[in-house]
Amino acid sequence: MCSHTNIVCPNHEGGFDCTPFCNLCEGEQEFCPSCELVTYEDWSNTYKPINNHITEEGNSFETYGDEVNFVCSQDNYNVWTEMDGDNGVYLVNGYHMVNRINYYVTEVPWQEGDDICITICEYVTCSCYNEETEEGDPDCDKCYGDGSYTDWKD
Ligand SMILES: [Zn+2]
Ligand SMILES: [Zn+2]
Ligand SMILES: [Zn+2]
Repeated sequence: MCSHTNIVCPNHEGGFDCTPFCNLCEGEQEFCPSCELVTYEDWSNTYKPINNHITEEGNSFETYGDEVNFVCSQDNYNVWTEMDGDNGVYLVNGYHMVNRINYYVTEVPWQEGDDICITICEYVTCSCYNEETEEGDPDCDKCYGDGSYTDWKD
């Protein structure tokens, strides 16, 4: 057991018990969002991102203008940052400036001590990548010659 605060499994909501086949809690009825690998969908079901009432499009908030002002007016425990990392795009709890792409505000807060990181996509080096030429195979149908591609998690 870790020292993080566990949360009730979103798949468990509605009064039925999770089974050992539940991909989040494995039948425990609760799980640790910092230690378990959580997908964007699990995150969305658990924390419930609010809609962007400024643009009325989707639930992400821009890093400038009225949208970031709104994000900053919220409790930090309800704020999440989507950021560009070396190997992909990640969604982490709290307000961060570095490499930020978007913000989210959720109805359900994260907890003190949480260290949650959701992988949105990963940049993968393609199997066709040639280290000498630093290029991929132009006929490759995965990377189309770039030598790397984006692996979207959903
Ligand atoms: Zn479950
Ligand atoms: Zn934990
Ligand atoms: Zn390739």
